[in-house]
Amino acid sequence: MGSSFVSEFRRSDHTGENRCWPCTVVNVGLVGAAGAALGAAVTPTVGAAAAVGGLALVWLRGYLIPGTPRFAPPLVAAVPGGAALFDEPPEGADDPPNGGGSLGAESGPADPAELLDRLVESGVLEAGDDTVAPTAAFDERWHAEMDRLREDTTEELARAALAISPATEARAIDDEWVALGPEGGGVTDETWLSRPVAIAEIAGYRATEPHLDDDEARLAAAQTNRLFLDECPDCGAALERGTDMSCCGGHTGAGDEPSETLVCPDCEARLYTFE
Ligand SMILES: [Zn+2]
Repeated sequence: MGSSFVSEFRRSDHTGENRCWPCTVVNVGLVGAAGAALGAAVTPTVGAAAAVGGLALVWLRGYLIPGTPRFAPPLVAAVPGGAALFDEPPEGADDPPNGGGSLGAESGPADPAELLDRLVESGVLEAGDDTVAPTAAFDERWHAEMDRLREDTTEELARAALAISPATEARAIDDEWVALGPEGGGVTDETWLSRPVAIAEIAGYRATEPHLDDDEARLAAAQTNRLFLDECPDCGAALERGTDMSCCGGHTGAGDEPSETLVCPDCEARLYTFE
């Protein structure tokens, strides 16, 4: 059983960071019960083999029983203490609408329609019949900046982010995150940006220089323009559409429609959330 077999069966949208613990727990329980029943009905070896195979699939795919994301959350939430199994964002990590924080998060988003008009007027974006896209001139500068920034260490990215963000303190975390915050603030005051987001936004800010002259608009443009990415700014992998949820709902109610997201499958980083 080589790694290609494993990757063929692995479903990253329900495993790794996205693993939903309620679904996993319910499935492990059901697989164990099914294995025991088979063991009793056939032979213990058959039961054990079925249980091991089922557990392996739960581990690789997030869940085995079809429909688990629908029935597991209410089931687990009903068990005392079960609600604690639902995913929470990492302690201190901000979880704003656009995913994983933003350089301009402190100032708050401008009026979206007004921002869009301004970006089209200033030549950052161009509007077609029913589409909007970066202009060739902006896109070229933006991608050239991203190519340069992806060579930087996370420490260097933190310094570059600090230079343009309203935040007054920046640090690199685990070579994976840039944390921005007020001086002397605690982890709960920080906004965390994944490397791909930091690269996209620093590059986006810099690339708007010939078009916009105020920081607030440049930061808002850098954040908005992440939705036009099709490759990961850090590793170059093709971005994939996913959903906001760790399989069964996480901290959104089970009845809510998940938001669509743009994610890097290799960095497991979210680049954008479509509301
Ligand atoms: Zn990536």
